[in-house]
This record gives sequence, C-alpha cells and structure tokens, in this order.
Amino acid sequence: MLTKTDYVEMAKGLSYPSQCLIDGQWVNAASGATFETINPNDGALLAKLPACDASDVDAAVTSARAAFESGIWSGLHPSERKAVMSKLADLIETNTEELAVMEAIDAGKPITDCVEIDVPETATCIRWHGEAQDKLYDQIAPSAPNAVGLIVREPLGVVGAVLPWNFPLMMMAWKIGPAMATGNSVIVKPAEQTSLTALRLAELALEAGVPPGVLNVITGMGPDVGEPLGRHMDVDALTFTGSTEVGRKFLEYAAQSNMKEVCLEMGGKSAAVVLEDAGGIAQIAEIQANAIFWNMGENCTANSRIIAHKSVYDELVAEMAKQAEAMALGDQMDPNTQNGPLVSDEHFEKVSGLVETGKTQGARLVTGGTGAGGLKFQPTVFANVTKDMDIFQQEIFGPVVGITKADSDEEAIALANDSEYGLAATLYTKDLTKAHKYARKLKAGTVGVNAYSEGEISTPFGGFKSSGFGGRDNGIHAHAQYTELKTIWITLDD
Ligand code: NAD
Repeated sequence: MLTKTDYVEMAKGLSYPSQCLIDGQWVNAASGATFETINPNDGALLAKLPACDASDVDAAVTSARAAFESGIWSGLHPSERKAVMSKLADLIETNTEELAVMEAIDAGKPITDCVEIDVPETATCIRWHGEAQDKLYDQIAPSAPNAVGLIVREPLGVVGAVLPWNFPLMMMAWKIGPAMATGNSVIVKPAEQTSLTALRLAELALEAGVPPGVLNVITGMGPDVGEPLGRHMDVDALTFTGSTEVGRKFLEYAAQSNMKEVCLEMGGKSAAVVLEDAGGIAQIAEIQANAIFWNMGENCTANSRIIAHKSVYDELVAEMAKQAEAMALGDQMDPNTQNGPLVSDEHFEKVSGLVETGKTQGARLVTGGTGAGGLKFQPTVFANVTKDMDIFQQEIFGPVVGITKADSDEEAIALANDSEYGLAATLYTKDLTKAHKYARKLKAGTVGVNAYSEGEISTPFGGFKSSGFGGRDNGIHAHAQYTELKTIWITLDD
C-alpha cells in the first residue's frame, strides 16, 4: 500500500509533457506561446504547455486528414485496429501509477480514485471499443430478387474532441475509443487546466502502434483551439464534453462553417427521488453522499438535488449531514483523502458564490458552506430548498446538495423534472411497479434505481434537454456519432 510520501515522491520524479503531438511529432505552438498548468492544492507550477492557436489546429487537421485518406488506420482490417487498441489498453494498465499521479496532481482528484477508477476505466474503455469493432455487422435491406441493398457504416474522417477537466483521462477515452475504433483520425483538445495526461496517453498510443496523424493532441485555451476546431471546414465531426454554455457555441460554429456533425455531452442538475416507501434512509444517505460529494461534486451526473417525500425528509436531511461531516478532506496525494481541492480559483469562486445565493434566497444551511483551506470546499448540505432557488436550478459543480420536500410521489417526480437539464436521475422505492413507472417518467438519459449509477461501458451515456445533443458516449451506440450510414443499391440486371 503506497503512502502519501510515496505518491509525492513519484510526482516529483515524473517527467511532465511540455509539447503537443501533431503528425506523430512533439512540437511547440507555432507562435512559441505557452501557458502554465499547476497543482490546484498548492499552486505549484507543474509544466508550461504550448498555447496553440488556429495555425496549430490547421497543422493537426492537415495531418489527420492525410492519415485518414492514406488508409493507414481507416483502411485496416478491424481486427488490426483492435490489436493496436488492446496494446494501448495494456500500456495504460502497465503505467497506472504514473498516469494516476499525473492526473491527481494536475486536476486535484484524490489519488485513490485515480488509481482505482479513472485509470482502469480508461483502459477498459479503449479495450472495449477496440474489441467490439471486429464483431459488428452491417445490414442488407429487404429488396426484390433483382437488387441488393447494402446499408453500411463508414468512418466520418477527421474528428475534433474538446474535453473538460473533471475526468481528463476518462473523457478522452470516451471520445477516442469509439472514434478510433471506427477508423477515424482524431484531434484532441484537452481542458487547459488538465492537459498532462492527454499528452501522456497520446505518447502511449504512439508506442502501441497508432500511426502518426491518427491521434493528435493540441493544448491551449477554448477560444484559441476549441473554436478553430469547431469552425474548421475540414473537420467532419466535433465531439464535446463540457458546459452547456460552451456546448451551444459548437452548434453555432458548425452552422456557420461546414455543418459538421456535433455531439455534445453537457451539464447536469441530476435529482435523486426518495419515495415514501424507499426504506433504509441511512443507507440511501450513504449512497447519495457518494453521488454528490465524489470527485468534489465536479461530476456531471452528481445528484445535486434530493427530492424527498415528506415522510422521510427529516431523517434524510440528518443522515446527509452526518455523511457530509464524515468526509475526509485533504491533499489529493494522500490515499486517505476522499475530497481534494476544487480545480481552480475561478471555480472555487463560482461554488462559493452559489452557496451564498442559497443562503440569501432562504435555503437552510445544515452543514458546510465554506472553504476548508486552499481550494478545498466543505461538503455542504442545504435543506428547505424550493424550485425557484438558484441552487435548485443551476449547476454548481461542487460538493453542494440541496434537499427539497415533496408532499407526494407524483410531486417528487414533477420536481425532479423541473430542470433545464436531463442527464441522470436516481429513484428509490421498494415497489417494482413504481420503479418501472417512475423510471420511465423521469426525463433523464440514465436513471439509477435504488442506487446511484451511470451504467457501465456497455450502456449509452448522455443527456436529455440541455444536457445532451446529437448522440451518446459509451456502448455500441457511441459508434453512431463517428460513422455515417451509406446505402449501396446494386441492381442485378441479366
Ligand atoms: P467548459 O465548457 O468550460 O470547457 C470545456 C472545454 O471547452 C474546454 O476544453 C475549454 O477549453 C473549451 N472551451 C471553452 N470555451 C470555448 C469556446 N468559446 N469555444 C470552444 N471551446 C471552448 O467545461 P468545464 O468547466 O471544463 O467542465 C465542466 C462542465 O462539463 C460541467 O458543466 C459538467 O457538467 C460538464 N461535463 C459533462 C459531462 C457529460 O458527459 N455530460 C461529463 C463531464 C463534464
């Protein structure tokens, strides 16, 4: 069992990436500009990275296009792509500790989560999509005997992937796994706060045998790199995970350029609905503490709202407070830490501001509500939250949960659906009929019943309403966003 000292020493010994990957070459930004990436726990400088701009995007697109058209990857037998992606998954597993340390120190994520969840799930995702590709069949349409109608799927070509900072490795895998498995070339733009592991993952991809140009990673700010990718006339698809505000812009970029395919995974304000017959409130509170406080609440499916039937409300408020107060806050490199620092000063200010608004608008602060040293924020529970409050409607993306009382099961479901978002929901009931009925009524892309869940790699992930647009991550369903359907109609004339 490694200790905090071990992890800190490992972090000191790491060689952090400092260049981008374009066409298989490690390069600086064409302008020579750089930006700093820091450890959010203490502000220490980790690395200076290329601050790329539109000219670097052009270079990456040219390389990705050439790789795609050459067939060096897109033209391989699916089993050959599978072999390379399996090798990449193996390399991720072999380098688990290095990747986990880099992820933890750059993003403020607890090291134990990085070792046990983020890195293994990254490997699983790459392997799963690689493995799937040589087991998928195309279709033949019903037709008269004198014709054959083939329905085939083809890769789109060049895919841009713009990523958030909360699960840097996993979000990259969720994009490049299906995009590369289906034969596309990809340009990844990681979040500027957390670019290190994207670059290291790309280095491992080269080692695994991914040909130059098939996977490019360019670092920099959203308007400098994300926007030129979104507006590029030679990018065929843009896949994005991040805020709803920025997601909307990609629709504009596409509409104003080449109408590229756009797939958006965006914000959430997911509700857990605890019905009258839910039972086991202490256990539900334990699950829901994980559902909101895990990863500092910086999780798109975080259950930041709990809607509780009036008969269980008081007990649930008390149990949630106990759970919040028991969370271990600390340095993210300490294996005992459950919650590390928030990702940045700016984000800390946003979370603090919404907590203050919650108080001003009349919610009852049960526990937490302030910083806990540096960028750490105390797990926070509000009660008496009503649907008109900002903390009910706005994504906080921090360790803050609001509990709302409902007079009936029907009202609880209606309150859960009273949101511009629809990413996920959780439902607690012992009644099988209610479980089925209300799971259908909840307007969310994933509904966990009697447990918080995002499903698994095999199930599609994405949102209703302002949480999602244009497709799904995960599962075979994710392949649809990176492929185009083609009909080939062959007339058999004698
Ligand atoms: P963000 O929208 O601020 O940034 C995401 C990416 O977009 C970054 O790479 C950023 O540089 C880029 N970007 C910023 N401005 C841009 C612009 N004008 N043009 C083009 N690109 C631009 O999001 P974030 O703060 O990194 O992540 C948090 C958000 O992500 C939350 O809303 C969270 O719910 C969401 N999220 C959603 C999912 C999901 O699967 N639905 C998963 C994780 C995170």
